[in-house]
Amino acid sequence: MPLTVAGKHRRVRFPSTNQPAQIPREQKRPRTRPASSHPAGKMTSQEAPRPGIPALFTQPPPIRDPLVTESVDLQDATIEKCLPFLKGLHSSQKGPFNVCGVPALQRDDHVGYLYDSLEDYPAGFVAMDASRPWMVYWALTGLSLLGEDVTSVRQRVIKTLQPMQNPAGGFGGGHGQTSHLAGSYAAVLSLAMVGGEEAYALVDRQSMWRWLGRLKQADGGFRVCEGGEEDVRGAYCAMTIISLLDLPLALPPDAVGRSTGMENFTDELPNYLARCQTFEGGISGSPGVEAHGAYAFCALACLSIIGPPEETIARCMDLPLLLSWLSARQNAPEGGFSGRTNKLVDGCYSHWVGGCWPLLQSAIDGKPQSAGPPPQAVGSLFSREGLDRYILGCCQSPHGGLRDKPGKSPDSYHTCYVLAGLSETQHHHYRTDISASSSEVFASAFSWKSSPIREDNVFEKNDRLTALHPLYVIPHQAAERMRLWYESEPF
Ligand SMILES: [Zn+2]
Repeated sequence: MPLTVAGKHRRVRFPSTNQPAQIPREQKRPRTRPASSHPAGKMTSQEAPRPGIPALFTQPPPIRDPLVTESVDLQDATIEKCLPFLKGLHSSQKGPFNVCGVPALQRDDHVGYLYDSLEDYPAGFVAMDASRPWMVYWALTGLSLLGEDVTSVRQRVIKTLQPMQNPAGGFGGGHGQTSHLAGSYAAVLSLAMVGGEEAYALVDRQSMWRWLGRLKQADGGFRVCEGGEEDVRGAYCAMTIISLLDLPLALPPDAVGRSTGMENFTDELPNYLARCQTFEGGISGSPGVEAHGAYAFCALACLSIIGPPEETIARCMDLPLLLSWLSARQNAPEGGFSGRTNKLVDGCYSHWVGGCWPLLQSAIDGKPQSAGPPPQAVGSLFSREGLDRYILGCCQSPHGGLRDKPGKSPDSYHTCYVLAGLSETQHHHYRTDISASSSEVFASAFSWKSSPIREDNVFEKNDRLTALHPLYVIPHQAAERMRLWYESEPF
């Protein structure tokens, strides 16, 4: 029986194939091209852009890599595809366009799309059965960003997540599935967003604590599930759960780490994360592999949960190298971020890379001196205008939902993280000398505030989104209320 929202029967809108969007595999075929056939010459979008758009966002980049590879071809094709959208000329763009040539946020369409994403799915989506808490989290976060009151779905969220919690601790990705840190992270954050005693009380903290103890590894990191891989996602998800649920920092008596002399969940963790910074300056999923935007966010957010960024990030990372790698993730003319070197722009990195900036900014700003925002000593570390233009111009699907790039179908994952990136461009995030938590260890994590950016915006007042907590990626109040409730409950 399909569920209803606000008395209205809804069904999810899908691409005609009834299948989740497929990620194309990049083919590796070596090719060469004579220097005379400069790829910029192939660019066909010669039509004049709408007024108010700087040339940086309407023309191919002036400096091109002369080495022609599959990646270069794909990059050229992506620019070709994005240019009509960046110029505000594509027939599928709805508008209205403002004086900066930027189309309005199609708020109602995106709200409708996200409510639909909480409903029935066709058989082709069976592969997503292990991502149920994520489907809930993406929809609730997107709706919260758009100003919707998600407490209206509290009972449904509780009923959906309840059977996914395992007696041995943690939440599985679906009913009857093994507990996993990613699913547990999404479940806990979803419960925080709908809020209320019944939602908070759903989590079995004792079994969660013992389960996390079995995931903590001797090198400081965390496995994502028992017998599963160890990576920085695991570390970030674990510290998110520990800090929000006010779990004891001490390892349970039977934790694996105790046999190697560890006492706390944070032992050796900063060193583990430090080993994930690569020669490029970015951060990888585990030591020795390629730097990646999403892992960079997980590592930096994890460091910012376990201590003040000016201490943890500054001590564990080579900051100039990290800044250099992160800056290279923003493409022109697209304006959006790529996740790795020589990869294409993708809307979801608006959050994964975009969310790294306030954490770095905080590491640079140093210890907060007041309850208010610090003086803006430096401007923005990235081009907010570029990211706004990419998100509003290229990522909005004409029937609601946001996407990776033009030509791709929207999905709730991209809708959530593209909107999170848009919110990130619209706010200053800063720490204060006051914490919402009485915890000494996590005082810094609960000292974040946000204020809207007023200067040089290329978006309109109606395009404004709610601010998210830069570490927990849910509204500030949702994170703080959950933490305070557990602080008042004996463990
Ligand atoms: Zn993506």
